[in-house]
Amino acid sequence: MSDPDLLVIGAGAAGIAAARAARAAGRAVRVLEARGRPGGRAWTESATLGAPFDLGATWLHQAGDNPLTPLARDAFDHDAVRSHRCLIGGRPAGAAEMAEYDAAYAAFHDRLRAARATAAPDAAVADHAPRGGFWDATVAHWEGPVICAAPLAAMDLRDFLDTQLAGPNLLLRDGIGGLLAGLAAELPVTYGAPVERLSWSGPGVVAEGPFGRIAARAAIVTAPTAVLAAGAIRFDPPLPAETEEAIHDLPLGLLSKIGLRAAGEDRLDLAPFAGLERRVEAEDEAAMTFIAWPFGRDHLMGFLGGEAAWALAREGAAGLADHARAELRRAYGGRAAAALRFDRPLASDWGRDPWARGAYSHARPGRAAARAALARPLGGGRLRFAGEACHPRLAATVAGAWESGHIAAWAALQPEDVRFKP
Ligand SMILES: Cc1cc2nc3c(=O)[nH]c(=O)nc-3n(C[C@H](O)[C@H](O)[C@H](O)COP(=O)(O)OP(=O)(O)OC[C@H]3O[C@@H](n4cnc5c(N)ncnc54)[C@H](O)[C@@H]3O)c2cc1C
Repeated sequence: MSDPDLLVIGAGAAGIAAARAARAAGRAVRVLEARGRPGGRAWTESATLGAPFDLGATWLHQAGDNPLTPLARDAFDHDAVRSHRCLIGGRPAGAAEMAEYDAAYAAFHDRLRAARATAAPDAAVADHAPRGGFWDATVAHWEGPVICAAPLAAMDLRDFLDTQLAGPNLLLRDGIGGLLAGLAAELPVTYGAPVERLSWSGPGVVAEGPFGRIAARAAIVTAPTAVLAAGAIRFDPPLPAETEEAIHDLPLGLLSKIGLRAAGEDRLDLAPFAGLERRVEAEDEAAMTFIAWPFGRDHLMGFLGGEAAWALAREGAAGLADHARAELRRAYGGRAAAALRFDRPLASDWGRDPWARGAYSHARPGRAAARAALARPLGGGRLRFAGEACHPRLAATVAGAWESGHIAAWAALQPEDVRFKP
């Protein structure tokens, strides 16, 4: 490997975007990726269920404002066809109950927005979320563990408001991992190349690992914050306290996914793309949500988020499959066991994956400024962090990661930022 202008650590969305930006600018770039595949937390597996299944990122959110929308060929607007079945103690909620549920959702967001101006600097979402109403715990369950992969008490109120996502929400027929793998195909990526040490004492940077030693003018590190917090990369000199704190203040929650294939013809009275969920009594109940038969395929997609996902993570795919079976039994009784193959699940394992250590980031209460702090260049611009955790608005998404990597690369390649000459 000859020394490139730019070294990118990680071939997820941020790393791929950074490398493509460097190439577009005519600069030499090298990507070092610990895993044997690109995409990071966007990974499409096609073998187990006989169809593409995204084990990580599922939707392109906020499609009109998403840099990946124009790059995706096979996008489908899920919102246009999505229907919901919400169970209350085993029976489907009626139209009036669903209207109350929608109203509780709107009230949740109104209340949080109104609290923004006067809330304490370290306010958590939970401090201002409505409580006690018939649907309040269910809304909290969705907004916390399901959508943000963490409880409302763990998340900063202002960061939560700043990173709210809108539709349209697109599903990709070939998966988001498939999209990213295609976008990485022509890039100079070295796989199986974990960076263990990164020296940025100047004038450039030097990365070391099982691949040897590679120098460059500048580096962009896109490893997830939980991987950085675990000390997977030793920085020399050590990172400034402000950067270390930012890493610590942006932990990853956990969202686990499972794919369950139909055993026969029974489709459980659910239309393709329909959502299945249940009302909960407490935000932290281990309730699962499901998307039925995407693209008319013969599998259900299940989600379990937050502390319940961490608790089950050590039991692997079988534990999640058992839990999914129990959840579906609430809705369908014995019919669920006959309709689905629980013995051959496809399940994610992001919590135990050493190159992820979780799903996506949230800011701890009082630490909304951590995203900007992490994105701040170091060493006169020769060391930068990028990735979903660095984006002030699209954090926790593929879009945020992509945009963050793109911006970091353009900034890193500005001559005034790179303080040495070839
Ligand atoms: C279950 C789940 C569901 C999700 N749903 C959605 C969704 O619907 N929509 C959405 O937009 N987003 C979703 N996300 C979030 C989205 O996947 C991430 O925000 C995004 O993919 C992060 O990209 P990244 O480049 O910042 O990080 P990553 O994708 O994690 O990329 C970082 C890369 O760095 C590599 N790496 C780590 N350490 C080292 C090292 N020491 N040396 C070399 N390489 C290293 C990793 O292997 C990885 O490939 C979901 C995530 C999960 C897990």
